Amino acid sequence: MVTKNQTTKTISLNKYGIKNASVKYQLSSEELHNETLRKDQGEEADNGTLAVNTGEFTGRSPKDRFIVKDDITRDKVWWGNINIPFPVDMFDRLYDKVTNYLSEKDVYVRDSYACADEAYKLNIRVITEYPWSNMFAYNMFLRPTEAELENFDPEWLIVNAPGFMADPEVDGTRQHNFAILNFTKKIALIGGTGYTGEIKKGIFSALNFILPVDKNTMPMHCSANVGKNGETAIFFGLSGTGKTTLSADPKRKLIGDDEHGWTAENTIFNFEGGCYAKVINLSEENEPDIFNAIKPGAILENVVMDENGVVDYADTSITQNTRVSYPIYHIDNIQEPSIGKNPKNIFFLTADAFGVLPPISKLTPGQAAYHFISGYTAKVAGTEEGINEPTPSFSACFGAPFMPLHPTKYAEMLSKKMKDAGVNVWLVNTGWTGGPYGIGSRMKLKFTRAMITAALEGELGDVEYVKHPIFGLEVPQSCPDVPMEVLNPKGTWKNQKAYDIQANELAVSFKENFAKFKEYANDEIMAGAPISK
Ligand code: ATP
Ligand code: MN
Repeated sequence: MVTKNQTTKTISLNKYGIKNASVKYQLSSEELHNETLRKDQGEEADNGTLAVNTGEFTGRSPKDRFIVKDDITRDKVWWGNINIPFPVDMFDRLYDKVTNYLSEKDVYVRDSYACADEAYKLNIRVITEYPWSNMFAYNMFLRPTEAELENFDPEWLIVNAPGFMADPEVDGTRQHNFAILNFTKKIALIGGTGYTGEIKKGIFSALNFILPVDKNTMPMHCSANVGKNGETAIFFGLSGTGKTTLSADPKRKLIGDDEHGWTAENTIFNFEGGCYAKVINLSEENEPDIFNAIKPGAILENVVMDENGVVDYADTSITQNTRVSYPIYHIDNIQEPSIGKNPKNIFFLTADAFGVLPPISKLTPGQAAYHFISGYTAKVAGTEEGINEPTPSFSACFGAPFMPLHPTKYAEMLSKKMKDAGVNVWLVNTGWTGGPYGIGSRMKLKFTRAMITAALEGELGDVEYVKHPIFGLEVPQSCPDVPMEVLNPKGTWKNQKAYDIQANELAVSFKENFAKFKEYANDEIMAGAPISK
């Protein structure tokens, strides 16, 4: 680990309205780790990894995420309950309150950047109240060299003040926490929540606006890796569907686990410099790469440890969303820099808790566009308040909460790029088999991995396919290292009639959800809809 402070440079925060702060600039991981312990904001696990509690919030809060409605955003953003408008003057007032709050305090400053491709580099200055939030930014964003730091010119600013509580009546927020993007001032203002994911997803949302609008680049909520012969694969999917898990593959070099851009020059680049993995039920046997990345420099969030610092990954008493962040080089097999060529294979990951969708199937271009716009996964009971049975969840582009533009803008870009690149598109159900959640079981990780490997190595090219009668997807009838009976979901159900009922219900949910996009979809895309009823 880097032990020395990266630079001797000092900076003043006066120009940001933060006065008389004790500025800790560009501390090393070890220093931030120790500051966190000294301030009693974290503990050390038995292997020396820092473990923190993020506090009241252990996940993002989509209802408290706003975009300032101004000349840049007014006519371009898809306003609604995902992209909630925030008034210009309200932002200015709240910003002043937050910077005033940070004045006179210890404040941690990190200069970093997003986008691994030089031509797309976005310099970011991160100002945080807590040392571990700063360490998270160090882990997740890319790291400038010492020479680059000397003349660092920050373009975007993140101000992160978990201890600042907004007053909704006065500040125009919904409640005491908020994450607000201001595209004119290039500021992400975060307060009232210590959940670190707000920091990375704030910049992701900003890039999801900037890249398509200004740089003709398709931003994607996906992981990516590259095989021996240089061919890239990308994995789209909503939270918990397997982007991070499945992209960590010892036989392939990791490009990134969550956010990428696909450029007009036919390259894929990572936005980030680190990974943010779920650690619920983590085991060395099932996920060795992630397990071994948890070492000093990483930060565990909201896990439970015994008195010896041994983490119990099965303990979800704080949250199901236990996490670890680490710089990408904690993974052995990585692509450097984090750039790949046009993908040859695209996987749409879905965790279908109804146990209806085939574990792997091949999509036509129309189906690919239809499923991308739909962005289906399912929520299982117990993960969210009020969810007692599997519930379909549709999130356009497999990441609606982070997409400021209308979903069809991204879908059009992706469709065109997929056609130009001539990719294979696969739908992979990493969710349930043998029945819905409660009756069936989760697809074995080793089977999912074997199916993905087979698709990547061209082993599903010549096998027999059968069209799914309800979803119209082409389902391979054999796959190396996967028992045949697993491939056809209906056969895994005891009650075949129940399968048909459930599959039809899901097909209806797809159609109901798609109704709002119908006016934008051409015949090819509509032909990708489920074929039942
Ligand atoms: P996020 O966007 O929140 O980072 P993600 O798509 O990266 O989510 P992962 O962190 O990979 O999701 O989470 C997938 C979880 O599901 C992991 O905890 C993994 O162990 C578990 N899992 C169980 N079975 C499978 C399977 N067959 N395929 C993929 N993941 C599985
Ligand atoms: Mn992930």
